[in-house]
Parts: sequence; structure tokens; C-alpha cells
Amino acid sequence: MKADSSLLCQAPELMPFESQTASFHPPRLFNRRNFLRGAAAGAAAAFLPSTVVSAAPAGLVRIEEPFHGAILSHQHGKIVDGGLAIRITGTAPASNQVTVNGLPAQQDGNQFLAEVVLRQKVTEIVAASGLPSAGGESRVRVVWDRNSQPRYHFALDDNIYFLRDIARKRYNSLFNSPYLKLLRDLNHKYGTRFSVNIYFESEDGFKLTELSDRYKSQWKDNAHWLKLAFHAFANKPDRPYQDAPAEKLIADYDQVAEQIQRFAGAGTFAPPTNLHWSMARPDGLHALARRGVRCLSGYFRKADGRWDINYGLDDRRSEYLSRHDLLMDFETGIIFFRDAIVCNATALGQIAPVLDPLAASPERRETINLLSHEQYFWPFYPDYEPDYAQRIEAAIRWTTDHGYTPSFFHEGILGSPERGYG
Ligand SMILES: [Zn+2]
Repeated sequence: MKADSSLLCQAPELMPFESQTASFHPPRLFNRRNFLRGAAAGAAAAFLPSTVVSAAPAGLVRIEEPFHGAILSHQHGKIVDGGLAIRITGTAPASNQVTVNGLPAQQDGNQFLAEVVLRQKVTEIVAASGLPSAGGESRVRVVWDRNSQPRYHFALDDNIYFLRDIARKRYNSLFNSPYLKLLRDLNHKYGTRFSVNIYFESEDGFKLTELSDRYKSQWKDNAHWLKLAFHAFANKPDRPYQDAPAEKLIADYDQVAEQIQRFAGAGTFAPPTNLHWSMARPDGLHALARRGVRCLSGYFRKADGRWDINYGLDDRRSEYLSRHDLLMDFETGIIFFRDAIVCNATALGQIAPVLDPLAASPERRETINLLSHEQYFWPFYPDYEPDYAQRIEAAIRWTTDHGYTPSFFHEGILGSPERGYG
């Protein structure tokens, strides 16, 4: 069949990904090692250099790091007494004493530095300057990913053809589907968990309602590694939820969810980790959160001078995500995260070189989202990739070889258990 050659979830010109690791950028003014070694707030002026840089706006105090919504792990501080000690830096008028969560901060001119120990999943950090009546106040909240360890998730987007194939061929087993057989082989070999994000219908009119429920027990038996989730109603139009009201998005979501539950059972259904084209309105994001969506991936890249494939987040947060990969949106409770690679858009020989930098830095990235799109698997597709399976396996092999464990990112904090807080 002739398929639309533009059948791309997201624009290929946005490739390739640079390697970016989550990290703080310590201000030159303060030495992190000295600070973490024991500086009590306000008592370490000896290691402060004498140079003072720019002036803060009078009357204002501003926390610069951590970023509001930052997701912090052992890589971003020091484990102390069951908590995570992190640095707080910012600017404030030099004439006033700055306190951070009630304790005096170190100050050097208009810059301040303090330590806060995180003990809960979410901690609010309050910097105050001067008398309450005269001074300013700055608040940020951060998430402590207490149990973070290297982990990966495999998301497959734009899926409908394999379900149409199963409906037409009436296989005896789900895994007579060549696509599902590939996924199962990879699960057996590497333990990979797959989130398969699906459409309600294909462009030739096949609908999920045509799919038999006779495979329900097989779906159930494999639900510990194979999940189905909503992606969009159909492949076209592009950017279906960029400007759509929440009612449209949720109506589509519910139709797909209902069908997944019908033919595959509740255990196979999962909230999606990505929307088609990774764009939505704020009301749509709130509605998704109410449906149980915990995290959403995107590219968070600039194209033609504008941030795009970013769920419509503002420039400041998009820029942060482009460098730090993870961000909690406290308004919705959704964690946004950046894809590590799109396998179908990366040549086989480039899979490992694209991923290598993610594990190479001192603060290695601990959450790797591997992504591919279904259509390139199929020989009838105009942009069929004969090495589709090898690309996916190369990415999985890389994560396995580098100590990343398979996980589902819709669980916990991107697969990290939420337990052990003080
Ligand atoms: Zn898509």
C-alpha cells in the first residue's frame, strides 16, 4: 500500500540529540567541595574570594539554584544522616542578612550560599532577606529522587499497524505477530519493558473496536513487561493536541483506554509517557494528570528560534529541560523528561555514539528513555528500515552494558521507588 511518506511522529530535522547530563553549574564564587566538607552557614567567610560580581536588584532575593521543580538525586549533593544535603545559591541585597529555611546563609556581596538537607520527596526552600517588611522572599520546591539508580524505559510511538495485522491475520498467538515477537525476543534477552503507545484508528479505517479480545489472557500473562497506552486518535493531523481543548484530548484518550481494557485487560493498560508530537495545552495536561499520567517525554529543543516538542512549556523551563533532562511540574504533578534517542532516526552505527556521552560524565544521566516509532518496522511503509530491529537492540544492548536496568517510567519517579523518606 502507499502510505504517506510524511508519516513521522516528530520532525527528523530535530535530530540528533546532544548529550546533556543533569548537573548544577556551581557559581565560581563558591567551592563546592569546601562547602560540602563542613561549612556551617555564615561561618565560612575564609574561603570566599574577595571579588564580588553583579548587583542584585534592591529589595529582591532570588534563589538561582536549585531550579524550581528540579529532581535531585545522590548525584546532586551529599548523603548525610539519611537525607540529601544540597547547595542553595542565589542573589540578594548585600546589606541584609539572608536566611534559607530559617538559617543564616553565607554571603559574599550580593550572592548567598546555604545548605539544605532534603528528607522528604518534596521540599520547599525559602530564602528571605532582611526584615519581613523590607526584604524579599524567594521560594522553590524540589523533588528528591531518593532511590535513583541507572534505569531505562523503552517507548514505542505511533502504533496501530501491528494491531491491524493481528486483527486481519487472526493469529493463534499474539507472538505470531512479527512486531510483538521482536519485542518478546528482546524482553527474553535483556528483560526490557516496553510501553507501546497506540492510536484508535489507522488511515485506512481500521479501528481498535475490530480487535478480538481472544488474546486477553496472553496480554495479561505478559503485562509485567508489555504495556499499551494512548498516543493519539490517529496519525493525522500532526500536532493533534497542541491547540486542542482538554475535552477533545480526553475524549480520544478515553476511547483508546476503553478499548485497551476491553481487548487486553486492566493490567496491560498504562498511562502514556508521551503524547503524539509532545504538545498539549495546560488544560489538557491537567486533564491527563487527572487520568493518572505521571510523566511525559519530549525533545525540548529549539527549532527556528522557538522551543518546540515541549508540551508548550515556557522558554525558561524548556531551556532547563534541554540541559537537565528532568523537571517536575508541580501544577499538574507531571514529570517532564527528555528522550535520550529516537532509534528510527539514528543510524545503526550512531546508536552507541549518541548514547555514550550520557554515561560518560561524572554525573551520569540515570534515566534513559529509548524511543522508536512503529511504522519503520513494516516493509510496506515507504520509509521502511530493514535494520529497525538491530537499531532497537543496539540501544538496549548499550543500556544493558552500561548498567541501566529495565523499568516503566510511569511508575514511581520515572521507575524509581518512592520509599524511604524520613
Ligand atoms: Zn507520535
